[in-house]
Amino acid sequence: MSHTFEYKNIKTRADHVCGWCGETINNGDNAWFHRYVDDGGFYSDYMHPECNSAMQSCKDWLDEWNPGDFPRGSSEAY
Ligand SMILES: [Zn+2]
Repeated sequence: MSHTFEYKNIKTRADHVCGWCGETINNGDNAWFHRYVDDGGFYSDYMHPECNSAMQSCKDWLDEWNPGDFPRGSSEAY
């Protein structure tokens, strides 16, 4: 079970890989930043706004995924 301790909408200051679709989030774009603890480790994720919405829409049944499992902004897996 993971524990989230930071979750906010930010403007990126570098390129990041989206934790949902695996595509690049360009420097200066809006993104959701998510920091959490899982299995004793600290992790952080960046997501496109539309990918964050897609993730929110299926978080009730979705436990784990890998970046790139879903198309950008979609909750329908490839
Ligand atoms: Zn994305």
